[in-house]
Amino acid sequence: MPNIVVLVKQVPDTYSERRLSDADHTLDRESADAVLDEINERAVEEALVIKEAHGGEVTVLSVGPERATEAIRKALSMGADKAIHVSDPALHGSCVLQTTKVLAAAIGTVEGVDLVIAGNEATDGRGGAVPAMLAEVLGFPQLTHARKVTIEGDTITVTRETDTGLTHLQATLPAVVSVGEKINEPRYPSFKGIMAAKKKPVDTLSVADLGIDPAQVGLASASTAVLESTPKPPRAAGQRVEDSGDGGSKIAEYLVGQKLI
Ligand SMILES: Cc1cc2nc3c(=O)[nH]c(=O)nc-3n(C[C@H](O)[C@H](O)[C@H](O)COP(=O)(O)OP(=O)(O)OC[C@H]3O[C@@H](n4cnc5c(N)ncnc54)[C@H](O)[C@@H]3O)c2cc1C
Repeated sequence: MPNIVVLVKQVPDTYSERRLSDADHTLDRESADAVLDEINERAVEEALVIKEAHGGEVTVLSVGPERATEAIRKALSMGADKAIHVSDPALHGSCVLQTTKVLAAAIGTVEGVDLVIAGNEATDGRGGAVPAMLAEVLGFPQLTHARKVTIEGDTITVTRETDTGLTHLQATLPAVVSVGEKINEPRYPSFKGIMAAKKKPVDTLSVADLGIDPAQVGLASASTAVLESTPKPPRAAGQRVEDSGDGGSKIAEYLVGQKLI
């Protein structure tokens, strides 16, 4: 009966205009719609599939601003049992390392964790480092880029997929797993699930509640800093190719000119 914690992050919707603030180059959260990161929907789905097969409990954990409750509620409406939300103004501008330490401390409040499931990489920060760092801090084995996860007793087996091929990993629980995009298709929350989610417990904690000095997190003590940022240049107009029977050759010429083939 695995006790599972799923790490979920609220991110700016990739369809919105995403920008950094001029003042301190942190994320301008007001300029974009916020959603539960799609890779984290897959992480929640995997936890629910494991729970359906083996029983246990699924806790979702998010470190993020107040607004992240929307992402947490979505994960709960998919079927997770309860949530922990670490929300503290001191976290503003935290780096990957600080975020990981806070996540590890919050996981420490859950008794007897067998499995931590994360996404491979968040759509916004794209550090792709949290799962590995977390495994190091917790002292758990890490099984990353999971395409398939199997649990038998206290053994976890993962098919790991990267650009170079498939690898089979095995470890003894407790472990940290990060999932890739092909792992599953996340379920849509049902109406019943949405209603039930409103009543599920969400434990809201500050960093001090976790025994962390607020001065150790946030922009001022972050291990990395964004010194400069430039908005993405507007898209240039495309080149139109008229097909008078030679469209294929024209496209090939264009691609050769761009050194794409
Ligand atoms: C309140 C807050 C404000 C922040 N503000 C800024 C900012 O303005 N500018 C800036 O550059 N950085 C900021 N950060 C840090 C950054 O957004 C990331 O949360 C952190 O550095 C993780 O890096 P990543 O997104 O590249 O994660 P990755 O390593 O790419 O994420 C992999 C997986 O780890 C898990 N994960 C990652 N982050 C979280 C999280 N916060 N909560 C739960 N699970 C998580 C998810 O499962 C995710 O799919 C902030 C962090 C916090 C907590």
